[in-house]
Amino acid sequence: MARLCIIRNIDSAHGKNIHGHTFRLEFNFIGEVVNNMVDNIDFHEISPKIDKVVDNLNHTYIDDVIKVRATVENIAIYLLKELKNIESLYSVVVYEGQEKYVEILKSEVKENL
Ligand SMILES: [Zn+2]
Repeated sequence: MARLCIIRNIDSAHGKNIHGHTFRLEFNFIGEVVNNMVDNIDFHEISPKIDKVVDNLNHTYIDDVIKVRATVENIAIYLLKELKNIESLYSVVVYEGQEKYVEILKSEVKENL
């Protein structure tokens, strides 16, 4: 099994007392290694989909975009929902600043997607 990660950073605001962070977003994918090649993950196909969703959050007040309180947990769930059609997506990690992050697996929220 191969695990691959795409990383993006956004500078955005959130919270009741509006303040900003650099949020680091990690998109983790898993694929089988078949005949010494990773099956099922095509970065050229996946990257534009991620960039589209990430661009919607960058330089915004995130609470307004995702329509719920923009905790790291809710941001991760939002990203999983937006990217649910990417079959190889395994989890999303959202860092708020450098000292706190959440990781949520796609399989954990599947019933809500
Ligand atoms: Zn904050």
